[in-house]
Amino acid sequence: MYLDVSARLPAEEIRRRLPSMHHQFKELADVDITAEPMEVGPTCHYVMGGVEVDPDTAASKVPGLYAAGEVAGGMHGSNRLGGNSLSDLLVFGRRAGLHAALYSAALAEHPLLDEEQISAAAAEALTPFEGSGAEGPVENPYTLHQELQQSMNDLVGIIRREGEMEEALKRLAELRERAERAVVEGHRQFNPGWHLALDLRNMLLVSECVARAALERTESRGGHTREDHPAMDHDWRRVNLVCSLAEKPAPDAQIGVHHQANPPIRADLLALFGLDELKKYLTEAELAAPTVPGPRSAGAADADGADTDSAAAGGAAADGAATNTQTGADQ
Ligand SMILES: Cc1cc2nc3c(=O)[nH]c(=O)nc-3n(C[C@H](O)[C@H](O)[C@H](O)COP(=O)(O)OP(=O)(O)OC[C@H]3O[C@@H](n4cnc5c(N)ncnc54)[C@H](O)[C@@H]3O)c2cc1C
Repeated sequence: MYLDVSARLPAEEIRRRLPSMHHQFKELADVDITAEPMEVGPTCHYVMGGVEVDPDTAASKVPGLYAAGEVAGGMHGSNRLGGNSLSDLLVFGRRAGLHAALYSAALAEHPLLDEEQISAAAAEALTPFEGSGAEGPVENPYTLHQELQQSMNDLVGIIRREGEMEEALKRLAELRERAERAVVEGHRQFNPGWHLALDLRNMLLVSECVARAALERTESRGGHTREDHPAMDHDWRRVNLVCSLAEKPAPDAQIGVHHQANPPIRADLLALFGLDELKKYLTEAELAAPTVPGPRSAGAADADGADTDSAAAGGAAADGAATNTQTGADQ
């Protein structure tokens, strides 16, 4: 696919507005985007789902664990607008650091580590050097990683379909079984194969979260596009899908998904928007609530600097299903 900005903007304007893109295409591909089209392709750009945190303190559900940035879910709803990551990191990074320090200072005594748990975790981490002893041929972590990438790309990609996501869950179960037989060579000192073998377990769990939540969410919203459910459904806006380790893990299901009601949008935030904009996202019941502002022109909302997409998404799904994809290099 080709994107041609040269036909839309004068060369000087392109250099001024897209300096790094202009520079990168010239240096890396010898393409002058002020004069010719650039080849682009979709890629996974940002994960909107992540660790569930309290917005004011960045505290997770695990005592003493704080999360900010791309690993934290919920900040951008179902679609991060280009460029919002930096402000996310600054605002929520500060909150996380501050509240982690306050939490630590307030502890009467420092928690003791459980030596048995540490030994068990260390032994598990070293398994890929010895092999787990599980029956079947030895597996290479790089091969498993490549197959995992390809499966998620093909089956839980940009346009999602029920049957394909079900197929993805089957493949994930097979990959998990094979990953138990991953073996690496070499030593503990800087060993990317070993690191990958350790990461695979988490990658498989996160992939299952993405696939299960995407299968559950029978609508299209932001970066989550269902061919079989192409419209946005207002009722789904009030639901977050929360993934956690299944209470009774099965070979083909390590993750459980539950519906969690979204808290209502605060009145002072709602007041930033025009009614016409809110109508696109809120349910009838919410629109009838006394906190919803009266009719306001879109221009008034824009003049306040309100970013309509991000605010709508802010109250929207924070599940692990949405990844946004884009082609530009400057977002
Ligand atoms: C191509 C591209 C272009 C983008 N452009 C923009 C843009 O123009 N503007 C914008 O606002 N956002 C942009 N983003 C998004 C933005 O860059 C990211 O969301 C942001 O950098 C995330 O920061 P972070 O600190 O949360 O996570 P990261 O930057 O991913 O930092 C996480 C760190 O943790 C380390 N780590 C991981 N595992 C372990 C471990 N087990 N032990 C120790 N360390 C570990 C990683 O190595 C990494 O250094 C872009 C993203 C992409 C992919």
